[in-house]
Amino acid sequence: MDEEQVEPESTPAGPVVFEGVEGRAHPITTYFTPVLHRRCAPVTEFGPELVQLVADMFASMAAADGVGLAANQIGVDARVFVVDCADEDEVQVVGHVVNPVLVLPTGRKRRLDLDGEGCLSVPGEYADLARPDRAEVHGVDVHGQPVRIVGTGLLARCLQHECDHLEGVVYVDRLPAEERTAILAAAGLSA
Ligand SMILES: [Zn+2]
Repeated sequence: MDEEQVEPESTPAGPVVFEGVEGRAHPITTYFTPVLHRRCAPVTEFGPELVQLVADMFASMAAADGVGLAANQIGVDARVFVVDCADEDEVQVVGHVVNPVLVLPTGRKRRLDLDGEGCLSVPGEYADLARPDRAEVHGVDVHGQPVRIVGTGLLARCLQHECDHLEGVVYVDRLPAEERTAILAAAGLSA
């Protein structure tokens, strides 16, 4: 045996830092946790606590290997989400939105994309769900400055999924009741 220190095969991810603040990963709330099933409160204070929340959300999303996370998924009742997700051109979009407003295509611009969807709050399970193939989110950043994210592909799905969370809706709520019951049971979740 070699006495030298051996580098691990895959080095653990370094600390997640947002706006100079180190994020702490929190446990992810699972389906049936009350904060996931009600509309989240608008953010009215833009200060260090909000920066820490977003840093913690990025850290929690990274730790859970997710592509998006809403604040209520770490138990915080606030209208904030983060994404780290690729669009249809495989451009990785990393961002956060406070008090988001979702805008979906209407009329002939509305096209549904049927694809698999999952959620960190329903661990290990996926289901096909039709959603518009494009989505825009308007809102503000942690400083109250306007932000806008336009999403196609997986990012379009992710933006809709995270905005749903802030309305108290988990993607399985959009499935037929029997399918939802089966998925929650498979995930080991019960009321
Ligand atoms: Zn989710």
